[in-house]
Amino acid sequence: MHFTLAFPKPGSDLCLRSNFASRYVRASLPRFSMPENSMPKKAAYQNIHDELKLDANPKMNLASFVTTSMEEECNKLMMESINKNYVDMDEYPATTDLHNRCVNMIARLFHAEIGENESAIGAGTVGSSEAIMLAGLAFKKRWQNKRKAEGKPYDKPNIVTGANVQVCWKKFASYFDVELREVKLSEGNYVMDPAKAVEMVDENTICVAAILGSTYNGEFEDVKLLNDLLLEKNKQTGWGTPIHVDAASGGFIAPFIYPELEWDFRLPLVKSINVSGHKYGLVYAGIGWVIWRSKEDLPEELVFHINYLGADQPTFTLNFSKGSSQIIAQYYQLIRLGKEGYKSIMENCRENAMVVKERLEKIGCFNILSKDDGVPVVAFSLKDRSRYDEFKISKMLRRLGWVVPAYPMPPGAQHINALRVVVRADLSRTLAECLVLDIENVVHELEKLHPKYPAKTTNIKEKKSAFDARRKIIAPESNKLQKIMAA
Ligand SMILES: *Cc1c(COP(=O)(O)O)cnc(C)c1O
Repeated sequence: MHFTLAFPKPGSDLCLRSNFASRYVRASLPRFSMPENSMPKKAAYQNIHDELKLDANPKMNLASFVTTSMEEECNKLMMESINKNYVDMDEYPATTDLHNRCVNMIARLFHAEIGENESAIGAGTVGSSEAIMLAGLAFKKRWQNKRKAEGKPYDKPNIVTGANVQVCWKKFASYFDVELREVKLSEGNYVMDPAKAVEMVDENTICVAAILGSTYNGEFEDVKLLNDLLLEKNKQTGWGTPIHVDAASGGFIAPFIYPELEWDFRLPLVKSINVSGHKYGLVYAGIGWVIWRSKEDLPEELVFHINYLGADQPTFTLNFSKGSSQIIAQYYQLIRLGKEGYKSIMENCRENAMVVKERLEKIGCFNILSKDDGVPVVAFSLKDRSRYDEFKISKMLRRLGWVVPAYPMPPGAQHINALRVVVRADLSRTLAECLVLDIENVVHELEKLHPKYPAKTTNIKEKKSAFDARRKIIAPESNKLQKIMAA
């Protein structure tokens, strides 16, 4: 009889439309071995969707510079292009064209040396890390070619940076056999000192890397001073040491709110710049850009030529296949917002960062480690960490949903711990105020748990009642307190 199919027995999966009434919520998902059988798509979706709820809320993840919200229209464009492989340039010439337009717009934003109708030299990458690998390789090749031509050894290249460099520079150095020479920091000075950097330069230095927006406290390094000091040194030595600017976070800030600041190709020694499209470029994770000053700064042997629609399309990336969505989203942001939009957003970020900074100062127990100008981050440390430290604050904020990381500062200042709040475009004033209130509450709670002066009591009765009152508030700490009270 066919009735069983049309009217399944009560209790069988077939008659259940609800995921939560199905057996798929009773079984745990396999962790390390692929299952033998298939499962319904709705059940697979629901299980994975729910498990991912355990992640932090991206909007409250103030550890990251990376964009966490975009407009509906852009989300739509990204979904529409999710099935296009960017590398198929012959098949997707329109996408390639948008990529090239982005490269040109960004290169002009950075004052690259290009004529009005000339094409800029640069590439879209997965992020600043890939961009830095490519820029670093170009410097290494150029230096090697020059040394070979001079009949000099070319096996010990080095790069000079501040000790505050982002980890991708250490990766570059390790992957491509380049020595990383780090200028040490000191208390109160959290970025590279250009004079010290220039002192470390020798004939094997392939470039000095300056950071526009230190990852640790958002501060801009003084690229202009570095350029001037290095020009002087180059004049004396003839080494011609160039500069790379790691503008991962600052590259989409400085052109809009510090247009007078000279940090880019306006300085003659700056030969390449990287920027993360997914940070203040305002695109979701997966896009960065590397731009060269001119054709001469990118050695020809690193460029591969693809023929697309009969025209030559040069490519220089580490990866072959990748998605198109991020590139399309970058183009959307550039034309949708324009300079006007980017300027307003960066100004909002800066103002909200100032509010966070001022409120934190008012609490009274923090030193501010970031500067008012730079990338809108607020880095701060405790004035007194004898009773509780920055890691404890970070942990307690995490329980409230906020991700505010704590970390030691780089070599030279490693005895200082910083807490860091990155103010992104989607951290509204209201949210920023909620954050500061929560930080204040956490500090009050920690003060109660670790009182500066344990209460002095005279007679035993008083002692006991004070102890009981405290114990109610700080049950987990009662052992420690008992010892103090007994002393
Ligand atoms: C974020 C960052 C990087 C790495 O960039 P990705 O785009 O995440 O690869 C490099 N340098 C600095 C200064 C950064 O802030």
